[in-house]
Formats: sequence, C-alpha cells, structure tokens
Amino acid sequence: MSENQNSSQVTDEDKNVEYEDVCYICRRPEHTAGKMIHIQNNVCICSDCMQKTFDSMNSGGFNMGDFMNMNMSVGKMPNISMINLSELQDTVPMSQKIKKKAPKEKKAAPVLDIHSIPAPHKIKARLDEYVVGQEQAKKVMSVAVYNHYKRVMSGEKDGVDIEKSNMLMIGPTGCGKTYLVKTLARLLDVPLAITDATSLTEAGYIGDDIESVVSKLLAAADNDVERAEKGIIFIDEIDKIAKKRNTNQRDVSGESVQQGMLKLLEGAEIDVPVGAGSKNAMVPMTTVDTKDILFICGGAFPDLEDIIKERLNKSAAIGFKSDLKDRYDEDENILSKVEVEDVRKFGMIPEFLGRLPVLFTLEALTEEMLVKILVEPKNAILKQYIRLLEMDEVDLEFDQGALSAVAKKAKEKKVGARALRAIIEEFMLDIMYEIPKDDNIGRVVITKDYIERKGGPTIQMRSAPALQEQAR
Ligand code: ADP
Repeated sequence: MSENQNSSQVTDEDKNVEYEDVCYICRRPEHTAGKMIHIQNNVCICSDCMQKTFDSMNSGGFNMGDFMNMNMSVGKMPNISMINLSELQDTVPMSQKIKKKAPKEKKAAPVLDIHSIPAPHKIKARLDEYVVGQEQAKKVMSVAVYNHYKRVMSGEKDGVDIEKSNMLMIGPTGCGKTYLVKTLARLLDVPLAITDATSLTEAGYIGDDIESVVSKLLAAADNDVERAEKGIIFIDEIDKIAKKRNTNQRDVSGESVQQGMLKLLEGAEIDVPVGAGSKNAMVPMTTVDTKDILFICGGAFPDLEDIIKERLNKSAAIGFKSDLKDRYDEDENILSKVEVEDVRKFGMIPEFLGRLPVLFTLEALTEEMLVKILVEPKNAILKQYIRLLEMDEVDLEFDQGALSAVAKKAKEKKVGARALRAIIEEFMLDIMYEIPKDDNIGRVVITKDYIERKGGPTIQMRSAPALQEQAR
C-alpha cells in the first residue's frame, strides 16, 4: 500500500469524528477563516478567498453579471483558468484534517431565574451565602430586584405602569457595595456593567460620555440587545458628581452629568456602537432601550453624616428634646437615618434622586464582620488557601487569635474588607513558598504571634504511619 493511501485511510474511530472544513485556496480551517462556502465535490472556499477571486475577476475587466450567466464549464471564459472541481475530491490527507472542537457544554441554568422570579426571601438567602452582614441592604435589594423583574416580565397592564426600582446605595468604601451588585447579577445571570461616575462627562468633553455605560452593558451581554435590555448598570462613586458649590465654571462632570443621566435612568432609546467604546463612522450602531435596565448607583458620600446630624439636631432643638441636642454625635449608625433631603443637600439634584426611588445604606464593617468575611462566604479567602494546601495534602488552620489580629490590622487601614486579601497574601507568601519544600509537613496553624510578627506559625509533622502511607 502506498504511503498516500495509508495517510488517507479512514479507521472506524475516525468515522465518528467530525472534521473541520478547510479552505481549498488558503488552507485555513473553518475556526479561523469563518464559515465556508461549499461548492461541488466537497470543495469548500472561505468567504475571503471567494471575495478575492471575484475582485480579481472584476479588476481584470471581467463583468460579474456575465460571469453569473456563463456556462461554468472549464475553458469557456477569457483570461480565467478554472479549476476542475472533480479532481479536487477528498484531496486533503487525513493527517491534515482538523478535528472540530466539541461544542461548549450547555450553560448551567441560573441560580435564580428572572423569568420565574424568586421571592425576595429566596434572593436574600442566596446573597447571604456570599455577603456577610448588611442585613437591611440585602433585604431592600431583594425586594427591589423582585419588583423590578416582576415589572419587566409583566409589562404594562390596565394602564398601570409600575415604576422602576432604580437604587441609590450609600456606604463607606470596602463595605461590599460593588460586591453585592456583582453577586446579584451573577445569581440572576443578567449582564452587568460597572462604571465609575468620575470618568463620565457631559457629551463633547474629555472623558466617557454618559451613554458609554449602555455600550459597556451591551458588550457584557455579548452584543445581545435583548439580554442587555434586562441587565444591570452599576455606577460607582456617584457622590463625585454632586453639584459643585461656589463655582462659576461650567460643571461638565458634576451637575450636568446628573442632568445627562436623567433620561437614561428613566428609560430612553439610546444609539450605541456595537463592539467599540466610541461612536465613529466605521462602527455599526444599534438601539438599546433602557426602560428595563436596572440602575444601581453607589457612593461613600463623605460628610453626609454631618448633614444628617445637623438636620436631626435642628429638629431636636425646636421641641422639648432640646437638652438632647448633641446626642447624635456618638451615634455610629447615623448614616442609616439618611433621608432624600440630606442627599439633595449634599449636591444631588432632585430630578436625579427622584429617579432612584430605592435609597438605602450599608454599615461600616466591624472587626467581627471582617473575621466572618475571612471564613464564612462560599468563596472566602481562607477557604481558597485551605483548598490550595489541601492539594499538597497539608491542613491549614488559622486560630481565633490570628483571625482577630488580621481583622484588626484590616480595620486600621480604613478601606473595609478590601485590606483583608492584601494582609492574608502577605502572610501566606512564606507559607506557600516553604511548605511544599518538605513532604513531612502535615499541618500548619497560623497564630496570633505570627500575624503580629512575634513568632512563627505552628508546624506539625505527619505521623509515621501517615508518612508510610504517602510513600506507598
Ligand atoms: P465597595 O463598597 O467600596 O464597592 P467592594 O464591594 O468592592 O467595596 O468590596 C471589596 C471586597 O471586599 C469585595 O470584593 C469582597 O470580596 C469583600 N467584601 C466587602 N464587603 C463584604 C461583605 N459584606 N461580605 C463579604 N465580602 C465582602
């Protein structure tokens, strides 16, 4: 048997495998060249090569119309040497065929399905698995999301159009605002776009124009307009676009951005570029309706507490409670007493606040909550490290003192839970470097002394039988 015959021999196993089409001209397979055009006798040509062929025919003074009407048989056209298709049958040897990639596994069903909207307590229960504390915020969000998707799925009935449940969340940095929104979007399997309000400016000025957030959402939905229209847009640092006080300059990144966002928040048809950040002549455009997009704005609103205190003190001073005038100075949860009026005073315009009817606050994380964040959530940082060392058959443990010491250090940094990962990573670096060196190590306990740099971690060796077991 000749070598050529050998290479094109088809085994039984090969019969069950699908092979990719390869362009006869450029030899690129379907996954790089795109969909193939099939012509006679199993010959395929990619659309690029087909186009090039037509172009060169045209530039050679050949009329496409004539070509189409012409008899396709070989040798009848001037200046063109046609290929004899019957000779091409199965010319690609087996060894050069590319197996088709198995189609990606079907996407798992979302944990919470927006089409059969889960009750608020079920949404909250899911959030509880990931987000520590923030009970009130989780409750308010669950109800708002429940109402929002009920509204989206039902449409307008009997002339009653339910109002949108856009939200405004206020809470110190690192307390879980972004994390809550991300978790929610993931559980509901809806696309999410996150933008910083500081990067937004009025159209025509340097910076992203306001509509770019919709473009981001479309990209997050893989350019599926229908999916994007049911997505979530999170605008962080919203307090940075508060009205500037005492300024004569044009406020292109403050009040005018708030003004510009009004129609987006309420619902408008926005023309957005597909697959690009900015509009230009080369980019195709599509229209996205924002009426069913859930907008969540978040910010730390520094100094808002003073405004709240001032209001509370004023009302106390009028009545018989005037002797209690300064009682709010020590109140840690003063932020939770916020009212729309306070946020307006801070510099948000009333029209803007009117389009964010769900207003709620998040609490600053206490040391106790920080400890819980380290160990409790489904993807807690410590669980991740424990899993990593488990692969080396080493048990990792943090004693209670160590956990509190990490939380204390994080609290001092005043950036909320964001500091936790950096601290843990710093202390785990040596452990992750040293432990795999020695097979005899079976258990590592991180102690308070290690975190406070007064000592080292406790290391326990494997017992002899365990070692023998491993050696076998
Ligand atoms: P911000 O409030 O500034 O938006 P983030 O949501 O970005 O803060 O929080 C930073 C990180 O801290 C998150 O990625 C998350 O891992 C962690 N984190 C913050 N708050 C919580 C919380 N309440 N529960 C669990 N993890 C949290």
